[in-house]
Amino acid sequence: MTLNGKVALVTGASSGIGEATAEALAEQGASVVIGARRTDRLKALEERLTAKGTKVLSVVLDVTDQDACKAAVQAAVDQFGQLDILVNNAGVMLLGTIVGADTTDWTRMINTNVLGLMFMTDAALPHLLASKGSVIQISSVAGRTARAGGGVYNASKWAVGAFSESLRQEVTARGVRVVLIEPGMVATELRDHITDQAAKATIMERASKVRQLQASDIANAVVYAVTQPDYVAVNEILLRPTDQV
Ligand code: NDP
Repeated sequence: MTLNGKVALVTGASSGIGEATAEALAEQGASVVIGARRTDRLKALEERLTAKGTKVLSVVLDVTDQDACKAAVQAAVDQFGQLDILVNNAGVMLLGTIVGADTTDWTRMINTNVLGLMFMTDAALPHLLASKGSVIQISSVAGRTARAGGGVYNASKWAVGAFSESLRQEVTARGVRVVLIEPGMVATELRDHITDQAAKATIMERASKVRQLQASDIANAVVYAVTQPDYVAVNEILLRPTDQV
């Protein structure tokens, strides 16, 4: 129980990596604030965690709404008195070619993956500076390697990397650790939301040939990063399925 007394806020905790990360942090003794738009899914997670003795607060959170980001952080601090870990996990991956794109997909990706992450970071920073806490940014291998058919998703995750490295240089001497996690293919519902049917079929086909990572594998990486001694900053973790080229 290495996170006893710590408070973690996880965005996009209603499924996949966010849900598994909230569970893993709770397992280590943290109190968890879980945010997303689907309240029924949050409720189910809250009940599961509460039954195990975790202190949980669910917040309805659309990260594209800056006021909602501020309110979520405030609710966390009002309830638990502090914030030690922010996991910026909420994201969408609306793959498709740049040529002929439905640009509403672009708006959704940039607003969620980039601006949403920035709004949450901004809202949380005063509290993380006070607690000498950690910001965990769930980026992607797509933030390191661009591919045809993923241009704007790649761009959104590249932005996460740039923002995070700049933030790291600003705050590391003040004791705040900034951690970039870059998963390869993880078996979650992320791909189900792709609107471009050709792009969806292509990625589903690729995924079917790979023993994918599980959400818990990413949660384990988060736990590793936040359970190191204060003087150890795990800046970046890139993890792919062994089968993923
Ligand atoms: P899921 O689709 O299972 O989870 C995405 C989560 O983000 C959901 O909980 C969803 O909740 C939330 N979300 C989406 N939009 C918003 C929003 N506007 N406001 C708040 N929450 C939002 O996919 P994953 O778990 O796979 O994805 C989590 C992160 O991991 C993403 O950032 C993704 O880019 C990244 N990632 C995933 C990989 C994979 O292969 N699966 C690989 C590399 C990175 P709700 O709809 O209830 O709001």
